Amino acid sequence: MGCNLKNRKDIPPGEVPGFNRRTASDNIVREQVIALLVLGQYLLSLVWVGGTEDLGALLSAMVPAMPRGLFFGVVFLPPFLTLGISLFARKFLGGSTRLFVCHRANLILLLFGAALTAILVQAPFVFESVLLLSSLLIVMTPAFSRGLYLGALLFFFLGSAWAGGWPGFSWFDIGDVVLTTLVGLIMVRFRFSDRVGRYLTRRTMEEQHRQLKETNRELLKANGRLQAITYVDGLTGVSNWRAFDEGLEGEWRRAMRGGTPVGLLMLDIDFFKAYNDTYGHQAGDDCLKQVAGSLEAGVRRQGEMVARYGGEEFAVIFPGANGDALAVLGESLRRRVGALGLTHPSLPWGHVSISIGGAVVCPRAGEDRESLIRQADKALYAAKEAGRNRVVIRKVP
Ligand code: GH3
Ligand code: MG
Ligand code: MG
Repeated sequence: MGCNLKNRKDIPPGEVPGFNRRTASDNIVREQVIALLVLGQYLLSLVWVGGTEDLGALLSAMVPAMPRGLFFGVVFLPPFLTLGISLFARKFLGGSTRLFVCHRANLILLLFGAALTAILVQAPFVFESVLLLSSLLIVMTPAFSRGLYLGALLFFFLGSAWAGGWPGFSWFDIGDVVLTTLVGLIMVRFRFSDRVGRYLTRRTMEEQHRQLKETNRELLKANGRLQAITYVDGLTGVSNWRAFDEGLEGEWRRAMRGGTPVGLLMLDIDFFKAYNDTYGHQAGDDCLKQVAGSLEAGVRRQGEMVARYGGEEFAVIFPGANGDALAVLGESLRRRVGALGLTHPSLPWGHVSISIGGAVVCPRAGEDRESLIRQADKALYAAKEAGRNRVVIRKVP
């Protein structure tokens, strides 16, 4: 399945672009710093508002209906809570989803806390600066952050009107808040686009990597199939002539280096033309398959190879064999084919049989492996001449 990621719309729903454990952790750290900054700012603004006058008296004058303890609670609680949540999150919460939830809670606390504080102390700049600071760390979907911003803004204006502090703000203050909000929203958008871009690039690269791996796998498979086609006989499933030729060449060279003999059997089904004529070509094919199977099963030693030499002829390479061992192997293969019990009325013994010619050679320098094939062929001819269904081995000096 190909996936072509080019723009935001291609991001599957529910995926938070680029929001992993590390970014979640980074955001929590930023929130701690911002919560500290907000706290510092509140303290400074209180001192600034209070000047040298008695702070308590000033606060009572500003928020007469509210007990002083509650006032401090309302103003200082959100950033303190943010600090608490971030410490808790960093220490105890492992999963990025939980960190993400903490991050959202922190933002809500910071934004609405700042709006509440700005209403209570009638200082819009507290809210503006928190808006601006928060925009630096918002990485979630813009829909959520936009909602959060606008919600906090609405809360700020309505709260101000409700608290009767409206006349305390000038149009300049309100314009300032609106401007800060716009800057904050643009920054969120910017940051989000950057994340989406990186997310899309990463996903596209992952997809390309996956496709490359898949192509590679398919190539390897195709290569395996090609190998099979190149070296395996299509009808019988045993090695084909090419595999035989390369196998014999290898054994020949090895034997020459080691001074060891190489044995070769040539096997030919007796009166196979007559079998075809009696039972048809399809039955002939089935017979070939069965004979090939029984030969393959009869050659168990490592290094021995059964190949279809052509037509109804097979060959067995037997490295390191002496004449006797080759004769024993030939005889056991002849018996195996006979034991298949495939009826063949043209033969005196009534079943499918093979004639086998074999030869053993100790390869010498300048000697060709063709000589071994010629000798084995001569032996096969001799087996046919002698009445078929037998093994003849030629020992070459
Ligand atoms: P001999 O005992 O002297 O070997 O006699 P033969 O009939 O086996 O030898 P001959 O070379 O005259 O005939 C070989 C036959 O093998 C001829 C051909 O129709 C048949 N043959 C060769 N390849 C295939 C094959 O793939 N499938 C089938 N069904 N028959 C094949
Ligand atoms: Mg033949
Ligand atoms: Mg034949």
